[in-house]
Amino acid sequence: MTAPDPIDLLLVSAESTNLPPLNVNIVQVCTCESALQKLLVTDFAIIILDVLSVELNALVFAQWVRTKARMPSTPIIFLDHLNNADFPIELIYELGTVEYLTMPVPPVVLRAKIAVFIELYRKTIEGEKKVRASEDRFRTLFNSIDEAFCTIEMLFNEQGTPVDYLFLEANSVFEKQTGLHAPVGKTARELVPNLEPHWFEMYGNVALTGDPLRFVEEAPSMGRWFDVYAFRIGGEGSLIVALLFKDISAKKLAELERESLLKQVQAAHTQMTDIFQKAPAFMCTLHGPQHIFKNVNEHYFQLIGMRDVIGKTVGEGLPEVIDQGYVQILDEVYRSGKSFIGKDAHVKLQRQVDGPLEERVLDFVYLPLKDADETVYGVLVHGIDITERKRAEDGLRRLASELSQSNQHKTEFLAILAHELRNPLAPVRNGLEVMRLMGDDAAAIGSVREMMQRQVDQMVNLIDDLLDIARISSGKLELKKECVTLSKVVRTAIDSCMPVIHSSKHVLTVDIPEIPILLDADPTRLTQVLGNLLTNAAKYTPSGGHICLSAGIVENDIVIVVTDTGIGIPAESLASIFNMFTQVGNNNSDTTGGLGIGLSLVHRLVELHGGTVAVQSEGPGKGSAFIIRLPLTIHSNSGLINPDADAASTTAVQNHNLRILVADDNIDAAESLVNLFQLLGHQTHAVYDGIEAYQAAQSFRPDIAFLDIGMPGMNGHEVAVAIKNNLDVAHIVLVALTGWGTTLDRTESKTAGFDHHMTKPMDIDIVKKLLS
Ligand code: ADP
Repeated sequence: MTAPDPIDLLLVSAESTNLPPLNVNIVQVCTCESALQKLLVTDFAIIILDVLSVELNALVFAQWVRTKARMPSTPIIFLDHLNNADFPIELIYELGTVEYLTMPVPPVVLRAKIAVFIELYRKTIEGEKKVRASEDRFRTLFNSIDEAFCTIEMLFNEQGTPVDYLFLEANSVFEKQTGLHAPVGKTARELVPNLEPHWFEMYGNVALTGDPLRFVEEAPSMGRWFDVYAFRIGGEGSLIVALLFKDISAKKLAELERESLLKQVQAAHTQMTDIFQKAPAFMCTLHGPQHIFKNVNEHYFQLIGMRDVIGKTVGEGLPEVIDQGYVQILDEVYRSGKSFIGKDAHVKLQRQVDGPLEERVLDFVYLPLKDADETVYGVLVHGIDITERKRAEDGLRRLASELSQSNQHKTEFLAILAHELRNPLAPVRNGLEVMRLMGDDAAAIGSVREMMQRQVDQMVNLIDDLLDIARISSGKLELKKECVTLSKVVRTAIDSCMPVIHSSKHVLTVDIPEIPILLDADPTRLTQVLGNLLTNAAKYTPSGGHICLSAGIVENDIVIVVTDTGIGIPAESLASIFNMFTQVGNNNSDTTGGLGIGLSLVHRLVELHGGTVAVQSEGPGKGSAFIIRLPLTIHSNSGLINPDADAASTTAVQNHNLRILVADDNIDAAESLVNLFQLLGHQTHAVYDGIEAYQAAQSFRPDIAFLDIGMPGMNGHEVAVAIKNNLDVAHIVLVALTGWGTTLDRTESKTAGFDHHMTKPMDIDIVKKLLS
């Protein structure tokens, strides 16, 4: 507890005035002037003025004190020794806190009076001290808080709408927080002319309701954000509002920046996730040293199959890869922080539950995932499944090799073809020479002609086969299917092969059911098929062998088997024997060898009939068997079908002595045909282009005209149209002679006016039939 401050008492008296003992410090001066000087610098609790001993008028002194002293309200006690009626008591009392005493005053009274003033002074001093201390504290607080504080008085317009406010006081931080200088005494609009109206509304509301308000708001007009606490000062009706606030622009901007950065980061993350998920490559991230699946994209699931791997280690998620070396590589990447690139890597995966292990081929990379401080925390697996591409590449490689093989076959084929075509030509040429030399030796010419006939037949067969293959390949070969008996087809085929079978002294056994078996087939083509197989059997069986043709019905198929006891076929050649240009090893080392197209033709013709052909052989020297299966149409034992019924149709040719016109730009072809017709007893005329043909039709007036289609001048079709349009000659029977015999070709010639359509080379029997 501190000692009370000493209290001073000013005694103005020239005499030594006896004052009663008081616990005060008595300062005595003799003159008013000295008293006044003291009063300018010191606070006194009371002034006691001895009126007689001072020269100055008491009233003047009192007025002076009230106006100039440090403490103008200091009480003054006037001591008068005379009961002076002139003393201006009333005026003095008007100056306040004075006492006028006429001496002698009993000391006890004087003491009591002085004590009252002293006590009053002490209380005043203490009260003032308290107030000052409190004010000081408030000021200190007011000025030391780092938040701005101000009080404002709300200003309303006539309609009661808050329109502005006046700053009453503001602390030192105010300017720093607002940027507004010396606000006190100014209105908000003066300081910030375009201040947003909502500030007035909010503060007006606080003033009117007394409800304090806490908010964060932007003042765009000031370019700042504020965090404000507003409350009313005073009770209802008070328009004073205190504002405690802080400029939080920096914080707010940082916040906004953070939000925008966060959004950018989120957008980037979304984008990355999107890229990760939709990337055309497979990707996954494995975290930690255990390689735990964290993120897996669609392509990765396509690779491994839809399984639940997230949160599992590679070993748990893909148990089948544990022993395939990949986990060790992942360990190494995680340990070393170095990436690993895998090329053409084979991995076996169980892509379906309980499914088999499937081998996939992958190009991939293991990339270590690192923290900011370069610590590896996982591995990114990224790659593409190249299995299909590899397969396609392998397929292409295989195809290329097959193509090159086939190209080689073709080259060989062309060489053989040249050889095969030249072979029969040499004897033909020789034959011509012999005939020229022989002159009229009919017997010798007869044998040469037979030899030439054989050679020409061989060539025709060869070219026929080639044409057939070409037609089948281009889809132009059409079967002329009819209802035909198996026995007839077999018999025709055997007839055509008998010369070669006989010449090799083979024994042929035929074993077919007695009941007629009906086929819906092209008899010519089927005969060709069986003929080929029988000829091969004869060709590839050493002399004196045994050939067997058997047929039967198995389930719903007709099965025809041609076996031989010949040289057989090695196992490795069985699969390719029906391919074009295939010839087995040295099988054709002797003169029997052909072009390697016969079996291909057999295969394709049987296929065209909806059937299959297969080969069997125990190996070289063990003979061969060719098995044909054809769909069964009907079979009958009713006797209704006479397989030989049409044999009678090959009636003898009756000579009518016709006039025949032959038109062909191939002179040899035209001449040979003309010779043939002459030998048959007809009158003939040959021409070599279309225009001549039309002229000859009018001048020679034939009964029948054989017209080639591809001729200079006018083609066969044009000649036919012209003839049929000319009434004089329209009756002539027109026969088209062409290399092509598809339905389209036949339709075209029919449309042009042809009565018959024959393909080259012409079958002489058919021609004879036609002429008859
Ligand atoms: P080509 O007989 O004209 O060479 P093919 O296509 O008919 O052509 O036959 C292809 C090859 O199949 C023959 O070259 C021959 O090596 C082999 N071959 C065909 N038939 C038989 C058979 N019955 N016995 C042994 N080898 C055969």
